[in-house]
Formats: sequence, C-alpha cells, structure tokens
Amino acid sequence: MSLRSGLGAVRRKVLCSLYRRTVPLGNRGPIVSFSFDDFPRTAYSAGGAVLERFGVRGTYYAAFGLMNASNELGEQFRSEDMDSLLERGHELASHTFSHISCRSVSCAAFREDVEKGRKAIEEVTGVDSTNFAYPFGHVTLQAKRTLRLGPGSARSIAPGCNGPDIDLNLLRANSLYGDLDSAGRAEKLILENAKRKTWLIFYTHDVRPRPSAFGCTPSLLEAALSCAVRSGCRILTVREALAEVGVQNGNPKGHAPCAVSA
Ligand SMILES: [Zn+2]
Repeated sequence: MSLRSGLGAVRRKVLCSLYRRTVPLGNRGPIVSFSFDDFPRTAYSAGGAVLERFGVRGTYYAAFGLMNASNELGEQFRSEDMDSLLERGHELASHTFSHISCRSVSCAAFREDVEKGRKAIEEVTGVDSTNFAYPFGHVTLQAKRTLRLGPGSARSIAPGCNGPDIDLNLLRANSLYGDLDSAGRAEKLILENAKRKTWLIFYTHDVRPRPSAFGCTPSLLEAALSCAVRSGCRILTVREALAEVGVQNGNPKGHAPCAVSA
C-alpha cells in the first residue's frame, strides 16, 4: 500500500467512525439500490427504462443548478424529467444546488447550498427530498458533523455495504462505471451483499452505449440488476430501504434523532 492510499484509508476510517447516526438494518437485507448522481438525462431515459423492465425503481440525486446544462456527461436533466420520474415511482433526492465540494467552501456555505438544493426541488416538484448525496463524493469531518441532523441520509462514495448498522450520515456506495467488462466486480459485490444480508448501493451518472468515465452502459446496468435479482436481493430505492428500517421523512419513526455519537 502506498503512503497516499494508506493515508486515504486512515482518513476514510475516521470519517466512517465519527458523527454517526445509526439505525440497525435488522433482518431486512439483502437489499440493492441503484442511484444516479447530478443527473444526466440518459440516467433516466435509458437507466430508468432498464430498471422499469425489472419492475423496480431508482434514486436520482439531482443538483438543481445543473438543470438544463450540458457537460461531458451529456445533457443534464430537465424539469419534465423530474416530473416524469416521480410519476413513475422513482425517487428524487438532492445533491446540493450548485454541485459544490464541501472541501472547497466553508461549512456554513456548504450547508446553505445543501438547503438551497433541497428547497429548489421542493418548490418545483413539491417533493421533500430528504436523502442527499455529497458531490464528488467529498466528505469532511466538519461537513459530516454539520449535516448530521439535516438530511434523512447523506450518501458518500465510501465503498462497501451498509449494515448491520447503517450510518445515516454516511451511507456507503459503490461505483457502477463502464461496460460489461466491469460486470464481474459488480457481481462480486452483489454476491457478498447477498451472503452478508446487507444493503448495497450503486451509483453512476450517464447511462448510454458510450458512457463518460463516470457512467455505464445499459448492458452493465442490466447485468447488475439481473445478478441482484438472481441472488435473491430485493431492489429498493434509498427512500424505500430507509422506510423499511423505520426512517421516514428523515427521522426514525416516532422520534428523532437516534444514536447520535460524537
Ligand atoms: Zn455529482
């Protein structure tokens, strides 16, 4: 292990162990969730269609400030995409307003942008997007502490499965990038998740035959879904999975908050 990756692992361990807000997964697993960040239109038009063929739904973490924009991930979502995905039972979650890294601004500015993103989604769609994902997967201890009583959950890109205790302040998630040559890695994660009866979250961006470096092909998404179904995992949105463990509207049923540490 290089010094750099060693330091990265230590840092991640500290991030995962402090300012936790945990709920037990209990006997709800194994669960797999598919999420899409930012989000490019193809995540819904192509990715959503693949999910729907399996009779399941996904979670879309939208950074409202990206609406109608276009970048290397392709065209970003439009207002009608949000309406359509909600109508079809997918989950709309938030991803800050401006798609900023918590490493580049003050904690107060970051929190403000998180709130602004959530409010913008609510104003346009009427949906309270209680689940959140950190842009770029960047998490700092200060940001984790600042947001700990805010969104219902905050998803990171710390790899691995969630459970037996789920840290609502830092949901673990794994990239689903590339084409079918990445299917083996996804299948390994799914089988481990099935064996451990935990909750595995995948994230990706654009879904198209020639995806960006941060997206995947429809074939890879289909392969992962098919493997998840075959291995006996239930496929739920983040909201649905959290509702199963009693977290609704951002708080554990009947009381808030639970098991806040540090
Ligand atoms: Zn993003």
